[in-house]
Amino acid sequence: MKTTNNGSFTIQDVGKKETFYGWVQKKRNLGGLIFIDLRDRSGIIQLVVRPENKNYELAESLRSEYVLKVEGEIAERENKNTNLATGEIEVMVEKLTVLNTSKDLPFEIKNDTTALEDTRLKYRYLDLRRDTLKEKLITRSKIMQITRNYLVEHEFIEIETPVLGRSTPEGARDYLVPSRVSKGSFYALPQSPQLYKQLLMISGMERYFQIAKCFRDEDLRSDRQPEFTQIDLEMSFVEPEDVMTLMEGLLAKMWKEIKGVTLTTPFPRIKWDEAFDIYGSDKPDLRFDLKIQDITGVFKNTNFGLFQSVLENKGMINCLVIKNKANDFSRKDLDKLADVVKTYQAKGLYYLKMTDGALNGSIIKNVTEEEGKTLIQQLNLEENDLVLIVADNRKITKTALGELRRKLGKDLGLIDESKDALLWVTDFPLFEYSETEGRFMAMHHPFTAPLEESIPKLLTDKASCYAKAYDIVINGYEAGGGSIRIHDHETQSKMFEALGFTEESAKEQFGFFLEAFDYGAPPHGGLAFGLDRLVMLLTGTENIRDVIAFPKTASASDLMTDAPNVVEEKQLKELAIQVEK
Ligand code: ASP
Repeated sequence: MKTTNNGSFTIQDVGKKETFYGWVQKKRNLGGLIFIDLRDRSGIIQLVVRPENKNYELAESLRSEYVLKVEGEIAERENKNTNLATGEIEVMVEKLTVLNTSKDLPFEIKNDTTALEDTRLKYRYLDLRRDTLKEKLITRSKIMQITRNYLVEHEFIEIETPVLGRSTPEGARDYLVPSRVSKGSFYALPQSPQLYKQLLMISGMERYFQIAKCFRDEDLRSDRQPEFTQIDLEMSFVEPEDVMTLMEGLLAKMWKEIKGVTLTTPFPRIKWDEAFDIYGSDKPDLRFDLKIQDITGVFKNTNFGLFQSVLENKGMINCLVIKNKANDFSRKDLDKLADVVKTYQAKGLYYLKMTDGALNGSIIKNVTEEEGKTLIQQLNLEENDLVLIVADNRKITKTALGELRRKLGKDLGLIDESKDALLWVTDFPLFEYSETEGRFMAMHHPFTAPLEESIPKLLTDKASCYAKAYDIVINGYEAGGGSIRIHDHETQSKMFEALGFTEESAKEQFGFFLEAFDYGAPPHGGLAFGLDRLVMLLTGTENIRDVIAFPKTASASDLMTDAPNVVEEKQLKELAIQVEK
């Protein structure tokens, strides 16, 4: 058995005779001496083979990624390499055994590889030999251990729930698995263990967690994978504050142990409405302080036709103020920013610049002297400030400026990369109006508890109902979310009615679940973190594939195993499935 770690030896170990195992990272011949960098999971140690060594010829024949067993004595190096943990020492090889050879590699195993990602995914097992990826998997493992330890310390029990189950209500498309025994019937892979974890609360488990694989058949964005991992948990007899406080403890522990950073708790809590109004987003990046400002009032008597029609339609006029940068933005730059807001359905981006002590810019002809004065005062405008304005309904205005805020934060270097900004966004709207469906849908899932004051409005004023729901937002990413659940029959029935379910259709879809609530369901709530996202944040990568051992491409395929793939006719027959050609 291998008992040594190449990367762990230091100058203190000089004189020790050890056995080393690993892969040939590099070999070079300098003045008759053969130097080999031997890599294992822990790092690299330098081997030296002298011409008089009986294994010298063998050493000469070594090539990249050959697997070796080496016996030798640790010696102090003459030319020390301070960039390497083991750079002060080397191993004087006594005996060398080649345990395996390697073909020529499709790409070199080094951190700053230029190999195409498709090639690296096809040979993922080789790509994982690179330090950068290996380190991320090690960090991922640590995060899982921290999670388990923390939650078990807090009296959670780890329970597995089925992968072959029924469709869950997270709202994405299901992955289906055909049943051989019940032909024509299908299992759905879980989009999350939502129903099961709530049933476990009804079972009296009180505190459950699971590091759970979840599956959603969605068109993939760069930060999504069809199968992903959640740290999923549920607790009985809790309020939102209890869940948030406990989870802050877990995140603080992760940040301390992984990054050595002490997070300040409690994290800020911002209600959804406030987040949307000020940052135009339900996942605001608070590493920079740019805020959306409402200037509707300034233009209440405007003569500007475009603003007038917005106000007539109960819209709003909002802006971002970019301090001391007006001169940096050319006409062309501003046109580009206009394209950004237009992708979020805003009709245009208007701007004003403070230059030579006065307001100038695209709409200055339409701004009266009075309005100009009020603007300068309200926005505290100073020389060289730039005002970027969107006028539309609330949703479009806030979203467009929110996206612009995000882009400018990045482009103008406003983000303080040296720290992480964690916060809770709370009190989400309970419903969300879907233009395509032409009706209100659940913003989270139909079991999310409304705020007490929203219960009487469930059927009469859906747009002003809010939920006991909370998301944890880190650096502008939603890293997790959850809610207190409905636990009484009456509210649940009202909720289903509000969502347009008939009693029969609700029963058909969730009958087993609803029935359980009639047998003493405790008040409960929970949350799920996206583990992949947390690992990304804690390892500083923007590529989700970097934190998953065997990820899929944007078209949901695995280039290494070639999944998904066709199956044999016989298998399809057994399942009574015919594939349309
Ligand atoms: N099941 C939810 C989700 O996956 C999380 C929760 O409400 O606990 O988003």
